Amino acid sequence: MATTTSDTLPPPAQVLPLAIGRFRDALLHPIAEKVATGQRLDAADARVLYATNDLIGLGTLADFANHRINGERVFFSANQHINPTNVCILRHTCVFCSYARLAKEEGAYTRTLEEVYQEAEQARGAPTREFHIVGGLHPKLGLSYYTDMIRGLKERHPQVQIKALTAVEIAHLARIEKSGIAEVLQRLKDAGLTSLPGGGAEVFSTAVRATIAERKLTGAEWIAVHRVAHGLGIPSNCTMLYGHVETADDRIEHLTMLRDLQDETGGFLTYIPLAYHTEHNELGVSLGRVGSATTGFEDLKNIAIGRLFLDNIPHVKTHWPMVTPFMSQIALAFGCDDVEGTVVYERVYHEAGAHTDMQLPYEGLVALIRDAGKVPVERDSLYQSLREDFTGLVIPRGGTHRPGLPVVHSA
Ligand code: SF4
Repeated sequence: MATTTSDTLPPPAQVLPLAIGRFRDALLHPIAEKVATGQRLDAADARVLYATNDLIGLGTLADFANHRINGERVFFSANQHINPTNVCILRHTCVFCSYARLAKEEGAYTRTLEEVYQEAEQARGAPTREFHIVGGLHPKLGLSYYTDMIRGLKERHPQVQIKALTAVEIAHLARIEKSGIAEVLQRLKDAGLTSLPGGGAEVFSTAVRATIAERKLTGAEWIAVHRVAHGLGIPSNCTMLYGHVETADDRIEHLTMLRDLQDETGGFLTYIPLAYHTEHNELGVSLGRVGSATTGFEDLKNIAIGRLFLDNIPHVKTHWPMVTPFMSQIALAFGCDDVEGTVVYERVYHEAGAHTDMQLPYEGLVALIRDAGKVPVERDSLYQSLREDFTGLVIPRGGTHRPGLPVVHSA
């Protein structure tokens, strides 16, 4: 009988070719041929992937595609989310949003710079290397509020990089400053901005936007802001909010627009599929879906298809506050190589009904990745490796991090 050792196991590059012809859904076979030979998938392929129920087959393809780019490495960051204001002029038109308030509405808040600095003090003595800063479109806060904030944070925490302001916030600042997108971005960069987050993309389809975010930046405008940022040497992330009214074709159109821009600029670092949450927002009520969530099947499918279709974006991230650390860990076998970080305090999705913990400890992230059989890599905002040797790190409870049972939070 042949022995099976690491010497006799097929190398990862051969695993997919061995699987071709054996998928439960035969429609995956021609796509597997393309993936195995590094050919780009087209919209027709993506339609097959969105229609398939062969989740394991789909995951096998995505895992192979990811392995070719990232091997067994899985990235995470020690980050802290900061949300300076929830006051937003689009409060009544982004009907999926649970976070925004009007200025005089109960629960509205706007932090002074001192309050932001005070919140950021949690980074002192912690491993934090990134502040992730997003918020509402405040009618009165001008660009100087943000440039002063970034300068102040960099002075106090020079080792921490700043990923701040979605394309929607950048366009809003340009509007109230009566200046161009490039000028706003350059001033933020001069203040110390490292990169842009990927929020505000939702789904680019005009019809979808008319239903869920009718006054928000159009898809083409969102893309245009990121094009300018990339041109100025500011890399960015990109997202898609799935699980509301969009169709598979809407998702494919969205992914195609992201892939096209990446072909042009190469400025996207990671793609993050974001699961729509139904609590405390008008859309959840009108769809009759309050209390429901996207399914694990949908969450894994969107991770896997993102990895397969966006062949030019190096990383695909799972956002554990939205889908749970349990699902994020499984996503690492479905084409995902990037896990949302320590976070510290998450407001936006917990307002919408996310029942996850507010933060994951650094050790917990290392354990989550390692327990999935992957190699953890602590990264900075630009995906430069900061730490790969975790010898001596104390992992709680016998080497395995067990995320807490879901609890209900109020922001
Ligand atoms: S999604 Fe963003 S822009 Fe829209 S209402 Fe919420 S905070 Fe404002």
